[in-house]
Amino acid sequence: MAQKKSPAPARELLFGNLWEFDPAPESASPNIDSRYDLFINGETVAPRSGKYFASTSPRNGEKLAEIAEASPADVDAAYKAASLAFPKWSRLPGAERGKYLFRIARLLQDRSREFAVAETLDGGKPIRESRDFDLPMAAAHFFYHAGWADKLEYLAPGRKASPLGVVGQVIPWNFPLLMLAWKIAPALACGNTVVLKPAETTSITAMKFVSILSAAGLPPGVVNIVTGAAETGSVVVGHPGAAKIAFTGSTAIGKEIQRAIAGTGKRLTLELGGKAANIVFEDAPIDQAVEGIVNGIFFNQGHVCCAGSRLLVQESVTDAVLRRLKLRVQQLRVGDPLDKNTDLGAINSPQQLRKIQALVKCGLHEGADMYQPEVSLPKTGWYFPPTIFSNVSMSHQVAREEIFGPILSVLTFRTAEEALEKANNTRFGLSAGVWTEKGSRILKMSGALKAGVVWANTYNKFDPSSPFGGYKESGFGREGGKHGLLEYLQLT
Ligand code: NDP
Repeated sequence: MAQKKSPAPARELLFGNLWEFDPAPESASPNIDSRYDLFINGETVAPRSGKYFASTSPRNGEKLAEIAEASPADVDAAYKAASLAFPKWSRLPGAERGKYLFRIARLLQDRSREFAVAETLDGGKPIRESRDFDLPMAAAHFFYHAGWADKLEYLAPGRKASPLGVVGQVIPWNFPLLMLAWKIAPALACGNTVVLKPAETTSITAMKFVSILSAAGLPPGVVNIVTGAAETGSVVVGHPGAAKIAFTGSTAIGKEIQRAIAGTGKRLTLELGGKAANIVFEDAPIDQAVEGIVNGIFFNQGHVCCAGSRLLVQESVTDAVLRRLKLRVQQLRVGDPLDKNTDLGAINSPQQLRKIQALVKCGLHEGADMYQPEVSLPKTGWYFPPTIFSNVSMSHQVAREEIFGPILSVLTFRTAEEALEKANNTRFGLSAGVWTEKGSRILKMSGALKAGVVWANTYNKFDPSSPFGGYKESGFGREGGKHGLLEYLQLT
């Protein structure tokens, strides 16, 4: 009998540091003003307090602009403007509202390079991502919802769908313009008017967006944007003029908001934190899975609520997956987010960097093994290298807390049941990933995983038509798709 030949070891092209990349800085101008006021009733107005705060670039710590700090009186003016605009806007035929949304989408496309550079400077994400993901997705959300504006009656046949009124929206710093689009586009398509507060550290693209609203000829008061920190956010949430609050951010603040508006009759959607399990079975295409793992945790420096931050690998392939993962991570380029070659940019703020550093220290203290490739980080700005913790157990903090940084915790499993048990053993339930050749296993796992989104043999894929949202402490309500539209409508 012929002896079976063992397969030749896979060849790997490893160039190490053989070549240096020349810098490839993006050169389009971001057109950032030195100062941004509030946007109320179709006009930019100075804050009544006269106070402004500095917005700095995480790329190098340099000041980019001064941002107005909205007081309760400013928030009140914004709600009044939105309330006055509501009757006319909500009665406008859907096709007419849709035209405004189409215009906004087209204008965003026209100015996408400029907005991408501003987003990268303000938030620290690589220009490759703001250019190829944030901007196209933001425009896609306006296009998608423009199409729905005159078809709302098909969402719930036989029932009447009416807008809710003025909607208060509070968004985070990880996808500033995209979160704005996720919030504003469905609200307007359904005939609501809006008061929106961007995050303190990333208000610039929201304030640049004001010029797009003006160019689109959006009637005054339909969208109002008030900038500021947590205090401004809590005034937006607590204002009696709000018919609904839509919030994306941390679970702690989400709970606070839920308590604050309990009993007021306001509708609420919360899109909160996550600690997703990305599960790799032994029959998975390993190279493809490694790309998915890298994209799952290092996209946007891991500042992603649905990041695949817990890697669950079947024991028989753990060594192979870890070896290839480490090789792949060595190839990642960390540094200036404005450079088109950069894979991991800057950490959004010094506070976030401190949180990441503290949790990494905790991982080491608890006995996990840490791997970081050799990278030289820029001397100014806020950066953290891609980090892999292996030998992690379920009780470790790095396996339980949302780190919101480029930190991957690796756990192992033997059977599908064990993988499920571990994946669901978390207070979060936003997303998960499954890597396997077996279709039946994909169906079984995705049905049993307590997560709002489950990706199979891919990760971090988004589309405006797909609903997104969580279970458990990841929040409730959905954004995107038909489900997302229904959150902005009253059905009778
Ligand atoms: P927050 O939840 O504090 O911020 C989200 C938004 O809410 C911001 O606009 C913030 O304003 C605003 N806000 C803060 N406090 C209140 C309040 N009491 N009432 C109303 N609005 C409020 O997140 P952080 O920026 O502090 O980030 C902390 C952690 O939260 C991160 O490390 C990460 O783990 C998680 N996070 C999760 C996100 C997700 O998408 N799931 C997004 C962002 C953070 P301002 O920023 O101006 O203070």
